Amino acid sequence: MIAEEYKKMLGQKSIIREIAEYGSERAKEIGYENVFDYSLGNPSVPVPQEFTNKLVELATSREPGSIHGYSPSLGIESVREKIAQSLSRRFDMNYKKEHIFMASGAAGALAHALRAVTTKGDEVITFAPFFPEYTPYVNKTGATLKVVPAKTDDFQINFAEFEKMLTPKVMAVLINTPNNPSGAIYSTETIKKLASFLQEKEREFGHEIFLISDEPYREIVFENVDAPFVAKYYPNTITCYSFSKSLSLAGERIGYIAVNPECKDAELIVNMCGQISRGIGHNCPPSIIQLAVAEVIDMTADLSVYETNMNILYKELTSLGFTCAKPGGTFYLFPKALEEDAVAFCKRALKYDLLLVPADNFGCPGYFRMAYCIPTEKVKRSLEAFRKLAKDYQLECQS
Ligand code: PLP
Repeated sequence: MIAEEYKKMLGQKSIIREIAEYGSERAKEIGYENVFDYSLGNPSVPVPQEFTNKLVELATSREPGSIHGYSPSLGIESVREKIAQSLSRRFDMNYKKEHIFMASGAAGALAHALRAVTTKGDEVITFAPFFPEYTPYVNKTGATLKVVPAKTDDFQINFAEFEKMLTPKVMAVLINTPNNPSGAIYSTETIKKLASFLQEKEREFGHEIFLISDEPYREIVFENVDAPFVAKYYPNTITCYSFSKSLSLAGERIGYIAVNPECKDAELIVNMCGQISRGIGHNCPPSIIQLAVAEVIDMTADLSVYETNMNILYKELTSLGFTCAKPGGTFYLFPKALEEDAVAFCKRALKYDLLLVPADNFGCPGYFRMAYCIPTEKVKRSLEAFRKLAKDYQLECQS
C-alpha cells in the first residue's frame, strides 16, 4: 500500500512553487521581462569566478577517484578542517574538524540536526514568521513543530509568548537569523536574552534544550547591522549552514553542521549524523563540490545587489503607505498587505504582473513576502506596478 501521509502532502504543495510556476507560464504569454517575479528565493548573482576556476582545476588535475568517488560519511576531512578553521578565525571560536559534518545544503543539515536531538513525541519550537518547509522538516522526524507568534514591529523574539510555550517537552528551539521571510536579524541583545532564558529552563527541566540555528543567509548582512554569531552565546548550539546563498550554489546542495565545541556531546552528535544519514538515505554532498567550496571558504559572491534592491523597494513601498520593518539582511522584504487577506491582496497584484507570496504559510497572515533576488533594472521597472496596485486600494477607500 502506498504511504497515505505523503500522498496527502500532494494537496499541500508549496505556494511559493505554485506562484513561480504561474510566473513561468505568464512569461510565455507576455515575455519574461514583463513579469515581476518576487516569488522564489533563488540567488541571482553569479557564483564567484574563483569557485569556477577551482572546480575546473580540480576536475582536470586530480585523480578521478578523489573527486568523483564517495566521500567519507561525515565529509572529506581536509574540508571539515578548513571549515572549522574558518569559523574559529572569523568568530573567535574553537571548532575542530570533529565538530563539522558535511550535508546537502541547509535542508540536509537541518534533517540531521533535528534527528540528532529529538525523538518521537518531542516538541520543537520556532518563531513566526518562519520558512514554511520547517513544517515537513520537523513533523517528519516524529517531533511536533510549535510556532511562537510574530512580534511584528521588528520581528525580534516574542519572549512573553515563547515563555508560555516552552514546556519540558521542548527538546530543541529552531531559529533562523538573518530571517526568511522577514529579513530581520536577531540582535545581540535578543540572542543573549534567548541564551540566558534557555539556560535557565535547562536547569529547571533537567535536560538540554538544543538551539538549532539555521543560517543560510549569514553572509547577507546589510551595512552597520548588528549580526551576532549565535553559537558564541549558547553552548548547546548546532549551526546549520549552507553555501546556497552566499556562493549562489543552491543547485549544488552543499552545506554543513557545526556543533559548538562547548555543546554537550558535541563530537558524539557529529558521529551520530553519519548514522542518521544511513537511516534517511542521505549520502555526503559530491566530493568535488566539497573540495571546491573549501578552496574559497572565506569568499562570497558579490552580494551587494541585494542591499541595493532592498533600499529601492523599502523606500518606494513605505512611501506608498506599506507598513514594513526594514530588513537587516537576506534578499526578502516582508510588508503588510493593503487588505487583511494577504491571499486576496497577492491575487490582485497579479493584475499588474507582480508575483508576491502571501505569508499565511509563514505563520504571519496579513503579510506578504518579496524575494528581491532579481536584477535591479527589473526592480526599478516594477515600481510603477506597485504604484498602480496601491492606487487601486486608495480609490477603493475613497469610493
Ligand atoms: N532554511 C531557510 C530559512 C531557507 O530559506 C532555505 C532555502 O531557501 C533553506 C533552509 C534550505 O536551504 P538549502 O538550499 O541550503 O538546502
